[in-house]
Formats: sequence, C-alpha cells, structure tokens
Amino acid sequence: MHRYRHLLRGGEVDYDTSLRVEEVESRIINRLLHNNDYINIIKYNDLSNILYKLKNLIFEEAKKIARDLDDKIEDPEKALEAFYAGNQDTPGFRTMFIVIQAIARVKAELYEEENGQIENPSPVCPVCGAVSRTMIKEEDSRYTMVCPFCGYKWTVSRGSLVCPYCGNSDPLSLGIFTGKKSKRLGLAWCQACGATWRVVLDSSIRVPRLLLPVIAHGAEIYRSLIPAASGASIRDPFADA
Ligand SMILES: [Zn+2]
Ligand SMILES: [Zn+2]
Repeated sequence: MHRYRHLLRGGEVDYDTSLRVEEVESRIINRLLHNNDYINIIKYNDLSNILYKLKNLIFEEAKKIARDLDDKIEDPEKALEAFYAGNQDTPGFRTMFIVIQAIARVKAELYEEENGQIENPSPVCPVCGAVSRTMIKEEDSRYTMVCPFCGYKWTVSRGSLVCPYCGNSDPLSLGIFTGKKSKRLGLAWCQACGATWRVVLDSSIRVPRLLLPVIAHGAEIYRSLIPAASGASIRDPFADA
C-alpha cells in the first residue's frame, strides 16, 4: 500500500492515521461477522435502525477501542450525540465514528453480496447516504463511485462518463483533467452543473476500498487546470459534503 503514498501529494489526508484506523476497524468487523444475530440485524435493517438496535454493542465496542485511538469516552450517550451532530471536537467523537463506520462497512459488504454494484447515477451512497466525490474508471469500462464512509461501490454509467451530480452525459461539457505523464488520477468537471469530483483512472491501483478516496484526494493538484476555478465562478453543489 505504501507504493501509492506519492499519489497523496497535494492532499492533507494523513495516510498513517488511515492505516491505523483500518486496523482497529478490521477487528470490529471481524467480531461482527462472527455473530449471526448481529449479521441478521445488519442485513435486514437500514442503517439508522441498525444503529438503534445495536446501541449497546456500539457502546461496548467504543469502550474497547477508545484507548487504542488515544480518545476518551466518559459518557457514551454524549459521544454518540456528538457523532450525530457532527461535533468533531467532543471527546469520543472519533471513536464513535470508527465504530459506526465499521458497522456501515459490514452493511455495505452484505448489501454488495446480495445486490452487486447497483446502477445508481448519483453521488449519494445507496447504503449509508454519504456523498461520494470519488469515481473509479473500471477495467470493464464502467464508471463507479465509492462511498467514503461505508466503502460500497455502485455503477454510475457504462462506456462513457456521466456527471453523477446532474446526469449530464454530453461529452462536450464533461472533462477529466489529468497529468501529462502520469494518468493515474484525474479531476472531472461538469460544465452543466459546475460539479467537480476525483477520478481514479488507473484500475491497477489496488488498495482497500476506503483508502481509494484518500488516494484520489491527490487529484486535487489538477484543480488549477479547471478554467472556471481561477475565476471563482464555479458552482459546486456538494461543496459542504
Ligand atoms: Zn456508504
Ligand atoms: Zn453535472
């Protein structure tokens, strides 16, 4: 995985932290996958119901992993509230984020086993509702998106690029900016709606799903190539996502 570290230039994402989180989450995922009751709850409910039904498990897991993450959980209820409210500075937020992400990843895995990578011409993850900004150009000429939270991957279009934000498929107003030599990552731009998103162009890049958005962040170095960006007239419908 360290082979791809250089692709991260230009990104402010901490790769080592991502690896450490990956290790902690894998342990939670393994515990979940070894319990049929948990599997059934995760399989047959949507994410908000799962989180409601597995609240005790979430608190238990949070207590188990907080120390590994240099985090503190004094009141798990408060930490969970902070997660829902997005209060990143509250102690316990990070731990809750990781426990819930692990559960969402199991949901995504079970969902994909059952349904495959469904057709969904949208940036919104059909499993957990997070908004993706990361596209992958697959070897089979599909354009997929990967969810930054649960890792589910879905099909946006086949054969040609379609803007996941507005559905525009006109090749004259859709483009991918990439390097002259290295064409592993690119930044796509839709002139119809103004959206930009990152594209992994080299499908030989094999990393765990959730690291793809981290890797793809490196495509930000091409942002200056987008003409409208310099004029600040660009409209990004998901700027706060
Ligand atoms: Zn998701
Ligand atoms: Zn668009």
